[in-house]
Amino acid sequence: MFIFKKTEDLRNFLQQKNNGTRDIGFVPTMGALHEGHLSLIRMSKSSNSLCICSIFVNPTQFNQAADLQKYPRTTSKDIALLAKVGCDVLFLPHESEIYPSDLDTKVEIAMNGLDTVMEGEFRPGHFAGVIQVVKRLLDITSPSHLYMGQKDFQQFSIIKHMIRTLDLPVNLVMAPTVRAENGLAKSSRNERLTAEQKEQAGIIYKTLSAAGDVLLRKSVDTIEADAIKTLSIPGFKPEYFDIVDGNTLQPVKDVLNTDWIVACTAVWAGDVRLIDNMILKDEG
Ligand code: AMP
Repeated sequence: MFIFKKTEDLRNFLQQKNNGTRDIGFVPTMGALHEGHLSLIRMSKSSNSLCICSIFVNPTQFNQAADLQKYPRTTSKDIALLAKVGCDVLFLPHESEIYPSDLDTKVEIAMNGLDTVMEGEFRPGHFAGVIQVVKRLLDITSPSHLYMGQKDFQQFSIIKHMIRTLDLPVNLVMAPTVRAENGLAKSSRNERLTAEQKEQAGIIYKTLSAAGDVLLRKSVDTIEADAIKTLSIPGFKPEYFDIVDGNTLQPVKDVLNTDWIVACTAVWAGDVRLIDNMILKDEG
């Protein structure tokens, strides 16, 4: 596996390697890699001749300095994992490579309300940081395919919107959420949970599944309120449980007349914030 820390070196490599063809799969990550990330690498490898992964803990998407500081960093373990699954290129930039002082990297597009609900409500500025870093990384890697997880459904929707709005020449592919045996979605943040919290956090998946079971029988408001109650076990604090239209991310008013319905939630387990979601209806 080739490892590049400098944008210029990566660009030079890609120019030589690629020689005009555009068959590159790209997987942006913030490191502390787990099976979820590796599933994206495998997906990328199966459809492209070159797979690039980036590890960059992006400061502009953290709205709390403490969260940025506490974010796990396990670079040597990550490198070993990436090499093991056959990733071709790792981009491991310093902040100054992503945000050079003489470059305006901000992306200003109308977000049509996608960024003000759910995560946007509780993490102001988060998605402005996400689109900024993904746009910059796409500019550097010029991939044909971009792989992102359903685990971060709102992030996926917003990147999809950015690609469409800016007409970027890349195909966005959604990868299913990889889960632990008890249903807990794999996440770098799980490293900070105790064994007991990990076990208890299986309730998030169970609650999402239960919402799907009663979607046609109960009102959306009742399902959401019940879910908040179920998730409020000692040591856990749900922030939101929203059943939304998968296209607009706005609350679902009419279940029968909405083709794509997704339940999204954020739950604090102690001081660790976990997010998850489940597609409850997909007839699109
Ligand atoms: P992160 O390192 O958390 O920024 O995640 C990098 C990419 O991996 C994002 O596209 C995430 O949606 C995806 N991802 C994170 N966790 C999972 C998971 N459990 N299953 C599938 N994809 C995931």
